[in-house]
Amino acid sequence: MSLRIVVCVKYVPDATGDRHFAEDLTVDRDDVDGLLSELDEYAVEQALQIKEAADDAEITVLTVGPEDASDALRKALSMGADKGVHVEDDDLHGTDALGTSLVLAKAIEKTGYDLVVCGMASTDGTMGVLPALLAERLGVPQVTQLSEVSVEGGVVTGRRDGDTASEQLEAALPAVISVTDQSGEARYPSFKGIMAAKKKPVESLDLDDLDIEADEVGLEGAWTAVDEAAERPARTAGTIVKDEGEGAKQLAEFLAGQKFI
Ligand SMILES: Cc1cc2nc3c(=O)[nH]c(=O)nc-3n(C[C@H](O)[C@H](O)[C@H](O)COP(=O)(O)OP(=O)(O)OC[C@H]3O[C@@H](n4cnc5c(N)ncnc54)[C@H](O)[C@@H]3O)c2cc1C
Repeated sequence: MSLRIVVCVKYVPDATGDRHFAEDLTVDRDDVDGLLSELDEYAVEQALQIKEAADDAEITVLTVGPEDASDALRKALSMGADKGVHVEDDDLHGTDALGTSLVLAKAIEKTGYDLVVCGMASTDGTMGVLPALLAERLGVPQVTQLSEVSVEGGVVTGRRDGDTASEQLEAALPAVISVTDQSGEARYPSFKGIMAAKKKPVESLDLDDLDIEADEVGLEGAWTAVDEAAERPARTAGTIVKDEGEGAKQLAEFLAGQKFI
């Protein structure tokens, strides 16, 4: 039987552009360009490698996000994933991590899965909590923060590298895993892949399709709230030390003044 892999991919604001909060203190997603979260490219890559090593596997990429989040799906499809699922609904505005995990879990159950692959964290929220929340909601084991992954005989095995030791972990499928940016470079989409991605199926779902009530998500259903947010202070001009024989001393004094040394 085919191994059903679902990769969760997030569409995030481009970190190289200016990012702002909207009036309700949610992230302003309308006036910024977005892209597939870079850390999720590693999740797509590991899913592709698992598929290549398997007899028969199918990869579905799943995103919860606004209309433009389809760009993230197309990028993952052009890397080699087989099909996409896009959950989009106006009532999702303001959904927090718990709400997002509800939506993702319902969409994963509807799609059908043996293995869910996530990135280690999104590059905007960077909470790194979604894989654990998903495993709990789906009632399956989680093996997170893996730098090496393989699947064989209905078991997922991986290596988690810590500061002082590496652990070898395994879980019976179905399971949720997350992979780190040390798991291997993500491939670039080929021209053929980009053309093929245009024809791959993408299913659109809304909250009704997932039997989720509007008040379970959005700002109303959120368990967390942003009370205050401030713009990052503008950069000040740096201190230039002109070396006229005393450069090293001045440098040391500057670092000491900033309490770096
Ligand atoms: C339209 C919309 C509006 C939102 N508004 C708010 C808001 O106002 N306040 C707020 O707190 N949160 C909001 N969220 C949710 C927020 O953007 C995060 O998705 C959520 O809080 C998870 O936190 P994180 O990004 O730190 O995920 P992490 O836990 O860091 O993510 C880990 C992994 O989970 C997967 N993942 C995470 N998010 C998604 C996703 N959306 N789709 C697919 N896979 C995903 C990826 O594989 C990722 O690498 C909104 C989300 C959407 C879609």
